[in-house]
Amino acid sequence: MIIVASTNGLIGMPAAVAVLRAGGTAVAAVEAGIRLVEANPDDHSVGYGGYPNIVGDLELDASIMDGRTLETGAVAAMKGYTHAISVARQVMETLPHVLLVGEGAERFAAEMGLVREDLLTDAARATWEQRLRQDMPADVFANLRGDIPLRDWVRLATDPERARGTVNFIAQDAHGDIACGVSTSGWAWSYPGRVGDSPIIGAGNYADNRYGAAACTGMGEMAIRAGTARSIVLYLKMGMSLTEACAEAMRDLRDLGGRFLSVMNLVALDKAGNPAGFSSIPDKTYIYQRADMEAPVEATRTHVPLPARWQG
Ligand code: ASP
Repeated sequence: MIIVASTNGLIGMPAAVAVLRAGGTAVAAVEAGIRLVEANPDDHSVGYGGYPNIVGDLELDASIMDGRTLETGAVAAMKGYTHAISVARQVMETLPHVLLVGEGAERFAAEMGLVREDLLTDAARATWEQRLRQDMPADVFANLRGDIPLRDWVRLATDPERARGTVNFIAQDAHGDIACGVSTSGWAWSYPGRVGDSPIIGAGNYADNRYGAAACTGMGEMAIRAGTARSIVLYLKMGMSLTEACAEAMRDLRDLGGRFLSVMNLVALDKAGNPAGFSSIPDKTYIYQRADMEAPVEATRTHVPLPARWQG
């Protein structure tokens, strides 16, 4: 029994481990861990307190995948409900669909009995305003919800190294079953309606009991283009070790062309219960905890440099 997570998942680790120790499923452990990160106002990349898009709306993406059946559920660009991971789980467990976006996801969250709230904290709103005012004239800032074209301002307002983040949780329970979940408020100051890799199954999240699971943080557009999480699991299926599989997925990302390339971070688990973390950022860590351990271990991810490009 093991939980593997991105380091910002630390706050949710005790809850996830407790679920496994009590005999709960990997799916339940993943949801329990992520919910605490989503509720943390100090994490500006996930759930409540996350940074908004360019016009000041906070949109959440999340997905969960059950490695027993390859069933999955996801929500994208959902406003007003903190626990995107729980809505994603309900999509998986109660609907014949896989992905709900925007108003449909919000309607479904309300049907679940969740109460709509304002998720944008004063701190996140203040950072949004300060960051955008640095880049754009006052009349543009005042008119962001008007009819001005946003295309160029999205590029200017973007801080590719700092304004992103996601939480990843992978769990393997006492039955050896594997689940993977991810949740994010996405890329801060992005174009309204922008969806990242987190709710795109195979991009930011994939789990298959037969081989293992993988999840991403970083520039979601890259993980979508390379099909990163699914690639790692497929490389495991082809017989690579977990380390080889993650390294191969990083090579795929390295070979991407195009004008916009930035960072990528992976966490992964093989079916034997071995964890791994990779990153294009030196010294970046991830965490894992086996059910018989008293506290999580913080391990350094294998560093694989990727080209960075940010051209308009
Ligand atoms: N992958 C997320 C996204 O692109 C953000 C991140 O993890 O940094 O939405």
